[in-house]
Amino acid sequence: MITTYIGMGSNLGDSQKILSEAIVQLQQLGTVRTSKLYQSPPMGPQDQPNYLNAVAELKTELEAHALLDELQRIEQESGRVRLRHWGERTLDLDLLIYGTEQIKTERLTVPHPGVMERDFVVIPLLDLDQSIQIQDQPLKTLAIVKNPVLDVLADENWAKI
Ligand code: ATP
Ligand code: MG
Ligand code: MG
Repeated sequence: MITTYIGMGSNLGDSQKILSEAIVQLQQLGTVRTSKLYQSPPMGPQDQPNYLNAVAELKTELEAHALLDELQRIEQESGRVRLRHWGERTLDLDLLIYGTEQIKTERLTVPHPGVMERDFVVIPLLDLDQSIQIQDQPLKTLAIVKNPVLDVLADENWAKI
């Protein structure tokens, strides 16, 4: 069983419902715990709505690329359309961390290259485990943890319907 972390984001449609339904889908792949639910300003193009963000911890038997296949399937089933780079979308599921593995293939880079710079990823990761490290860097010591530009919308029970 590998402990993985999935970054979740949505800024189109009923985002809380879309993220809750994605949690139900992730539960088919293993054992899931959820971070709190956050709202954050968009990265990239600024003329798009704020995002809802969360991170899911998933303990799974799936190999990393098989897990990416499942994440992409769940994204597609949410009706995901992609208009522009870092643009608005119904659902984004990124494989942030896969055990202690480092992976670099055409389809998959793990740990996800954006993790350290993104408060909307680091803060929810720390909800799940205060001791998470990436390449020997404890996330809780990162400068972005001190002045996050995001709001807590709900506690870790947000996905329970
Ligand atoms: P970012 O990855 O910077 O957050 P994004 O999530 O908007 O940007 P996507 O359009 O969701 O980017 O994904 C583009 C491609 O990234 C996918 O086709 C996928 O193969 C690749 N990819 C590489 N590493 C990962 C990863 N760790 N998790 C998810 N997708 C990944
Ligand atoms: Mg992303
Ligand atoms: Mg993505």
